[in-house]
Amino acid sequence: MTADEAKNEMIQNQLEGRGMVDQDVLGAFRAVDRLLFVPEGLARLAYADEPLPIGYGQTISQPFVVAIMTELLGLNKTARVLEVGTGSGYQTAILSRLAREVVTIERIKELHESAKKLLDVLGYGNVRAVLGDGYEGYPEAAPYDGIVVTAAPPTIPEALVAQLAPGGRMIAPIGSSEQMLVRITKNKRGELTSENIFPVLFVPMRHG
Ligand code: SAH
Repeated sequence: MTADEAKNEMIQNQLEGRGMVDQDVLGAFRAVDRLLFVPEGLARLAYADEPLPIGYGQTISQPFVVAIMTELLGLNKTARVLEVGTGSGYQTAILSRLAREVVTIERIKELHESAKKLLDVLGYGNVRAVLGDGYEGYPEAAPYDGIVVTAAPPTIPEALVAQLAPGGRMIAPIGSSEQMLVRITKNKRGELTSENIFPVLFVPMRHG
């Protein structure tokens, strides 16, 4: 099987097979090759239905989880997005194909640098990769139409909610021993609603 065939099979079985129909999101998955974002030694698992270690105790998320989090943001081409936890840069690349601008923040210098380099080489010019603690968000570029958090804080970080634009959505895994994927929506009047999506298991969000 070629890499392309393996990628198409991943999209068919893991995403479409689980009911994902958003053609924009599926198109972004076709355009971004997960193989480029996994460590060389794990190439054989590049399209597997699981998270994979990327070093420093961190993981690249399972493709389905990246897809569902992206879909739940409901992005359009004018959207500005904040991603907390760049990691491998895989989800960053997916987001950058669906939004106008993506700001992504990572606290581990080595991961920040390698993701930034890779995204540059691949030509993702609408991505701004920042090294730092994203627990407080990134107010310099706020507000955001979408915020996606890829490490789990124990409770919903208020600073992130504050950086959501009216009409914006935030997707985050919340909790310590047990985590729930939560979507927070801020309506045009600034009122918040919260939905529980399903239980998940992410690396913990560090603070400081
Ligand atoms: N979206 C990434 C997932 C990486 S795992 C991918 O698909 O590869 C989550 C990442 O969040 C890790 O790289 C971890 O270092 C980072 N992280 C944890 N706490 C953070 C914080 N407070 N600020 C920024 N990044 C953080």
